[in-house]
Amino acid sequence: MIIGILKEPAFESRVSLLAEQASVLVKKEINVWIEPDAGAKAFCRDEEYTRSGALIKSREEIFATADIVLGIHHNDIPSTLKNKVLAGIYQPLYNYTLMLDWARQGLTVFSLDMLPRTTRAQSMDVLSSQANIAGYEAVILAASRYPRYFPMLMTAAGSIRPARILVLGAGVAGLQAIATGRRLGAVVEVFDTRPAVKEEVMSLGAKFIEVEGAEDASKAGGYAVEQNADFQRRQKEKIAESIKKADIVITTAQIFGKKAPVLITKEMISTMRAGSVIIDLAASTGGNTEETRENATVLVGDVTIIGDSNLPSALPSDASKLYGNNVLNFLQLLTGKAGTVELNFKDDIVAGACITHDGNIVNDRVKVLNDSSVTTNK
Ligand code: NAD
Repeated sequence: MIIGILKEPAFESRVSLLAEQASVLVKKEINVWIEPDAGAKAFCRDEEYTRSGALIKSREEIFATADIVLGIHHNDIPSTLKNKVLAGIYQPLYNYTLMLDWARQGLTVFSLDMLPRTTRAQSMDVLSSQANIAGYEAVILAASRYPRYFPMLMTAAGSIRPARILVLGAGVAGLQAIATGRRLGAVVEVFDTRPAVKEEVMSLGAKFIEVEGAEDASKAGGYAVEQNADFQRRQKEKIAESIKKADIVITTAQIFGKKAPVLITKEMISTMRAGSVIIDLAASTGGNTEETRENATVLVGDVTIIGDSNLPSALPSDASKLYGNNVLNFLQLLTGKAGTVELNFKDDIVAGACITHDGNIVNDRVKVLNDSSVTTNK
């Protein structure tokens, strides 16, 4: 079996597998082919891949011969490519038309953002490993753009009060943002619609602000659900109170497969102190503020809003390492003892992540979409 690793598009610094992970496959007598310079931006050079036993091959050779092709993004897959297995993060719930095209081409597509969020799938959970990095990087980015200190300081030249961070959404990214903000000495307040996260938030030294009457999300497989209009109104009132005191806002609220809830209005932003910074992690699904623009930085009055939807790329080395470990663990489910591709659709993880196979869209959550219901974000 040959596993091919593509070089990512220009905006991406990560790579699907580092050399250290390629060597694990090579030891199992799986051939690993990698496009020239695919790991360069993640500080993994071609020589390291060669030393690990991988071969440097052109993109055309990989497409022509590899059995499994790894690429984090959609990555210009040719419309002539047939009968291959692809694995990456393709956001199929927002890219129905592309999935349909890939199904018709006869590609078997595994989108790792669709893995079930179960205990067994945790070691393959690319959404968690990358959101963790995004949460960290969001705070570091905010600190570098904020014109004041984060920690409290008492100096002979005067005293500085600690920065106040407001975090909306305490999932994977939000919890890491809270922990990072606290480590830098900021005071942190947090909103989430799932009361279950209150204890975790408090254990990180942050204040959890409760809004009564959220919809029960206990049956949504670890994801949040949409809220009713009354809750949304009361939550907005409380956020409006908190945001006036906040210097930094990190927004991470998402409802899987849907447009992100708009939690911050232009009016709320106008009440923030000059120099404040908002990092909106939900930019790729519409954003949590009315003013967010995907992959752009905008100034609203004197408040900076950053909608960077590829923050893990800012830490390409560690982000690739964790992504690659997730991929390695997932590949174990696709490879038989003899080093051949074996797809066992009775495995809930294989079935859950599989979007297209045998000419059809096979994933239930994607199948119910159609061209008119596509909420594409690309
Ligand atoms: P997650 O599902 O673990 O967390 C989202 C949290 O938002 C949940 O705890 C949920 O309860 C909460 N939430 C939902 N609706 C809410 C509301 N109305 N008010 C308050 N909280 C609400 O997701 P995650 O893995 O932490 O990712 C968070 C966001 O970051 C997603 O939008 C994801 O796409 C994005 N992300 C961005 C980058 C980037 O580079 N910008 C990277 C990774 C992830």
